[in-house]
Amino acid sequence: MEVETFMMLYNQSIEKKELFSFKVLLNQLNVLTPEIKGKQQVPYSSEQVNLIKNCQNSIVRNFCNNPVIKKNPDINPLVLTKLANFFKSCDFSEQKLAQCLFLIHAAKTDCHLLEDIKARELFVSYWEKFDTITIKTNYDSVFQEFFSIFKTLFQSRNFIDIINKSIDEIVVSKPGKDTYNFNNLKLVFFESEFPSVNGYSGKDCIYLNAKNVLNSFELPLENEKKLLVAKLNFISLVLHEASHVLLRFKLNDLNLSSPFLDDRVKKNEVKKNVKECGFETEKKYFKGCIAWNISAIHKIDFTYCEGFLNNILNDKKVDFEIEKANVEIYNDELFHSSGFSIVFESGFNFFF
Ligand SMILES: [Zn+2]
Repeated sequence: MEVETFMMLYNQSIEKKELFSFKVLLNQLNVLTPEIKGKQQVPYSSEQVNLIKNCQNSIVRNFCNNPVIKKNPDINPLVLTKLANFFKSCDFSEQKLAQCLFLIHAAKTDCHLLEDIKARELFVSYWEKFDTITIKTNYDSVFQEFFSIFKTLFQSRNFIDIINKSIDEIVVSKPGKDTYNFNNLKLVFFESEFPSVNGYSGKDCIYLNAKNVLNSFELPLENEKKLLVAKLNFISLVLHEASHVLLRFKLNDLNLSSPFLDDRVKKNEVKKNVKECGFETEKKYFKGCIAWNISAIHKIDFTYCEGFLNNILNDKKVDFEIEKANVEIYNDELFHSSGFSIVFESGFNFFF
């Protein structure tokens, strides 16, 4: 229904050569479905065709409700042509699903730390470039190594325990009903024209930016050290995104993001609202959100970190010590919460 209303207004704007108004769209949706306030749930359990259809409807609502769009709701409809064609197409592929999941989180981007004009540019870039998110299909040996680490991590009791523990502190458990089988979790690398997006999560799937996981290889270090940093950075990203998967699985909503959990707190489904559930898990595991690449060119203790990596991969209980590792941590107060991890050139870090 959301997509149909969007398409009707889009076609009208094109025909009449008028601006498209997200405000008019939201007003119409409010008349059609007064019971839906704000975001719309995307059930975790849907199969792929319905999942894509549900995502598309939620994408429309997420855009309408974003404060950036609410502040500037009128836009040249030509900017939305790619999105309109995307909604029209009957493609229900993995690729389309990956783009849908990107858009559903992108549409929720919280931009309160960005200048208004920058925030608007960001949204235009989402509409014009979301289709550059493409699933990578050729993997060289470095990627094979990442896949192998991914498999090892989810066969490791200690790694899974940390993710479960972290989310159990947020979500009220429903015994017997909400145990997530991490064997179902897939890893997908994507390419895109969004160099600042590190990754996001989907249904039983973690999407990571293929280019960004290789950033460590550009550091002025010996090859072994570059590889070590790349692996630790990769593990942080997997930990972060796997937490989002688990949170959304447990609350049965792929359109859900911390910190927007207040209505779930009211329903007694969530114990506490958190700024960013991915960070909460990173902090549990690494005691902070570690800036691996920047640490690597300062005082990082490679020997300590190598020992730590070996412990992770051998399923040993790990107790990371920031002081011993000599790593730097991000101040998570400066992060924007949304649904995926994105780092802007301006220095702001966005975690979707
Ligand atoms: Zn996150």
